[in-house]
This record gives sequence, structure tokens and C-alpha cells, in this order.
Amino acid sequence: MSLQDAVSSGSSGEGNLSESACRSLSQIREIEGGPEGLNAFLALAEPEDLEQCAEGPLTGVLVAVKDNICTVGLPTTCGSLILKGYQSPYEATAVRKLRDAGALIVGKTNLDEFGMGSSTENSAFGPTLNPVDRGLVPGGSSGGSAAAVAADYVRVALGSDTGGSVRQPAAFCGVVGIKPTYGRISRYGLVAFASSLDQIGTIGATVIEASLLLEVVSGYDARDATSVEKPVPRYRDAAVQGIEGMVVGIPSEYFPEQLDPTVRRLLDEACERLVAAGAEVRPVSLPHTEFAIPCYYVLATAEASSNLARYDGVRFGVRLPAEEVGRMYELTRGNFGAEVKRRIMLGTYVLSAGYYDAYYATAQRTRASIAHDFETVFQEVDVLFTPTSPTPAFPLGERVFDPVAMYLSDVFTVTANLAGIPGISVPIGTVDELPLGGQLLGPWWGESKLIAAAGAIEASYEDNT
Ligand code: GLN
Repeated sequence: MSLQDAVSSGSSGEGNLSESACRSLSQIREIEGGPEGLNAFLALAEPEDLEQCAEGPLTGVLVAVKDNICTVGLPTTCGSLILKGYQSPYEATAVRKLRDAGALIVGKTNLDEFGMGSSTENSAFGPTLNPVDRGLVPGGSSGGSAAAVAADYVRVALGSDTGGSVRQPAAFCGVVGIKPTYGRISRYGLVAFASSLDQIGTIGATVIEASLLLEVVSGYDARDATSVEKPVPRYRDAAVQGIEGMVVGIPSEYFPEQLDPTVRRLLDEACERLVAAGAEVRPVSLPHTEFAIPCYYVLATAEASSNLARYDGVRFGVRLPAEEVGRMYELTRGNFGAEVKRRIMLGTYVLSAGYYDAYYATAQRTRASIAHDFETVFQEVDVLFTPTSPTPAFPLGERVFDPVAMYLSDVFTVTANLAGIPGISVPIGTVDELPLGGQLLGPWWGESKLIAAAGAIEASYEDNT
């Protein structure tokens, strides 16, 4: 049974689901193992792992899971040599919820090491290729998950989004990505990069599929102290709800003068589609937006430097032995890739005694101002509409040696993580045959509104492309 059928029937399918699941698995194995492979997966399940599944809304549905989310039975490496071959002894709550709903975990997807990057080129196990054009990056850091959906390996996948890592690769691969409100999905079993920003998100071939996955994995979890006890709506229903009377804000700061005119034109067209579907569009301002990238890179690196201190060769993963313990740490931590090392150094610096106030404390205040901008604007509009990323997918290798250019790919996405609000990226057409994403941002716990708006945009492209 396809996920589409699951969505429309709302029940489990008939027939031998495990058999059809295995066929798909063997097809994925064949393609990924051959010359057409995308390197989307770091590990694939064995056919016998997919023989049994529970009864639920996802019975027999294959789901790909980003390799920084813990699974029992498949390794969890975070795309890092330091966790090569690491087997988690427990499962992430989101994965357990998937299994309880009947899903089959088909494999673990490639990512930028520990989620640090915007292209999946920072994986220690080689980059993932974009199925739309194999010379391009799939975006990152959930590039393997987005590529797996875009390549039709799976209809849905889990990713994680600390500063855009679900929305940006979804945009680059022409699929849908949802980053929910902070606290909506349990982070238990999501390997920490920057805990106050990290959130598991869902990627789907369509809005309704990404929304159904969100519905399944959301909810309170006593094992995550930041998880929030709030009922989970039927998000899949919101996708077809319509947007009559919805007020959509267009923040001027997300449409800077330098924005590529083709990108701007597609965004304008998508706005017209929102209006045609019954929405009202109005200009708004989020004045602190320009500080978002520096603020994010101070806070994310500070938290990363602390979170990654645990990889010392004593408790997790790889250990390179030495006569003396300090040397053992040094050798072991030498397994981190260049970007991870850069962030640990930056983060350690901004937290150091002499600089803490200048950098970390300032960034915390800026974060509050950014959140306040959203709070103010959402008194006036229901959702915001912006580009997901300033450009479509870029060529492999183009930004590898230019970290600042790479960081700027996230200029429109990091604000949602800083404020903790939800965001969705939905396809809005193509630039020179490359998919472009439009981003909808909503107030805290406003996922249903975002899904409704994304559903309306998607439907307008189905009616007339
Ligand atoms: N690209 C951003 C970074 O490198 C965001 C990553 C993410 O969301 N995991 O930090």
C-alpha cells in the first residue's frame, strides 16, 4: 500500500505488505549499489528486518531516517568517523512512534557530520548527489533524507532541523519539509548538535504525506524535558482545509535587493496563487532579521562545543589508544571533520571567560529580539511567506572551501529555530529546471495553518503547472 492510500483510507492496507516492502528495499539496494547510486543511505535494512510491522496509519510504509536519530538494529553514525559502526542501545521516541504506527525503517540517511552543513558534503562518508541533477548538492544537512524522497525510494523520511536542515534540502530536491515548533516532537534519541535549536522534522513527497508523518511522530514525551504536553491535531486534514480569509505576511527583509530576480518572480507568482486561493497578502517587517546568521552561528557553535565534548573515546564510538589519557582524547577527537572542528573551536571561543559577554550574551539578547519580532508580526498575520533559500541547489564543491558562503544558504531558515516557531518548505516551481522552495513560517503551535497554506500552494500547481 502506498502512503497516499494510507492517507486517504486512514486505515491499514491489505495483502502482503512486507513482501512489497522487501521489493522496494531490493530496488533501493540495487540502484544505490550501482552507478546510478546517490549515496543517500549510510545503512540499509536487511529484508528480514522488514518482515513484520504493527497495525496503524503507516502499516507497511517504508520510512528513511536521518543517521543522527537513534535506531536499534541499524548503526547511528551522524556521518562522522568518530561514531563509525556505533550501535545505539536504545531507540529515539520518534522512531518508536513510527514503528508503533506500522512503519518499516528502510535505512539511515546521509547527512553533514552531526548536522553541521548545508550541502551534505561534510559527511565523512562522501556527499549525497541531488537526484534532480547529480552534479548538484541535495542541500543539507538532511540531504540523504530529501534525496531519498525525491528519488522515489520512499514517500517520507525523518530529518532534523537546527537552522534549516529539513527545509533547505527539501527545497533543493523539490519535496516538502516541515520543521515543527520546538517541543512538538521529542528529541529523545536525536543526537544533540545545538539542543536549544534542534528539532526533528519530516520530509514528504507531498504536503499531506509530510503532515501525516508529523502527526505520527509528534506528542509529549517524558524523556525529553523540552517536550510540550499539547494535543496533536490531525495534521493530514489541515492539508486540504483551504485558506479562505488567511492573512499572509511578506517580510521585506526576506526579499533583499540582491535577491535573484528569477527567485523573486517565482515567489511573487506563488503569492498570487495564495491570493487566488482566498488569502490576503500584506507586507510586514521583521527588523532584527539581519542579525540572525551571526546570532545563530554564535549560539549553535557554543552549544555544539559543549554537546560534542562527550566524544572523548571513553564512552562512545571510536577510541584511538595512547599511553596517556590526554593524548588518547587528542587522537580520538582527531576523527572529527574540518567543519566540526571549526565549530568546536568557535564555540569554545565564544564561551570563554573573556568573551562570553561580548558574544554569547549578546547573541542570547539578539535571539530574544528575533523571537519578539515574530511575536509582534503574528498578532497581525496568520503566516509568513518567504524564499526557503536564496538560490536553488548549487554545484557540488562550489562552497566547500567557503564556509561563510555555505552559512549564508541558511539566511532565511535560521530565524525559525532561534524563535522556536514552525516552518515548511513547499515546491514553487523551477529556475532553469531546478526546484525552488517557498517557506511558510507560523506562530508557535501553528503547524495546521502552515500545512493549510502549503497544501493550497501545492494544489495550485497541480491544477495548472
Ligand atoms: N546549515 C546549518 C548549519 O550548518 C543548519 C544545520 C541544521 O539545521 N542541522 O548549522
